[in-house]
Amino acid sequence: MAEMTLFEKILAGEIPGDMVYEDEHCAAFRDINPAAPVHVLLVPRKPIPRLADASGDDAGLLGHLLLVAPKIAAAEGFGDAFRLVVNNGADAGQSVFHLHLHIIAGRPLKWPPG
Ligand code: AMP
Repeated sequence: MAEMTLFEKILAGEIPGDMVYEDEHCAAFRDINPAAPVHVLLVPRKPIPRLADASGDDAGLLGHLLLVAPKIAAAEGFGDAFRLVVNNGADAGQSVFHLHLHIIAGRPLKWPPG
C-alpha cells in the first residue's frame, strides 16, 4: 500500500492540523506557514497527487472543491475578496504532492503573482 501523504495524515488526525472545515469529500486546515492573514488549505480526501493527475472521474470532486472554497473564505470573513491557488508540479512551487487549493485572503493581493 502507498504511504500516506502528509495531508492524508492530517485529515486522519495522525498529525495535528488546525481544521476549519470537514465533509465527506474534503477537509480544510490552516497553512502552517501562512502567506496572508487567512491561508487555508482545502484538500480532497482522495490523494490525487497533482491537478494534472485528476481524471474525468474526479470532475464532481473538483467541482465540489470550487463550491466549498468560497464558503470557507466567507466563513473567514473574506467572501468578497479571496484568491485560490493550485501549484501543479515542483517547478510551479508544489511541495506536497496531494492536491490542495490554497485559499488566501486578508491583505491586498497583487497581480500577477510571483
Ligand atoms: P504547495 O507548496 O503548493 O505544495 O503547498 C504546500 C503547503 O503546505 C505550504 O504552503 C506549506 O506551508 C503547507 N504545509 C506543510 N506542512 C504543513 C502542515 N503540517 N500543516 C499545515 N500546512 C502545512
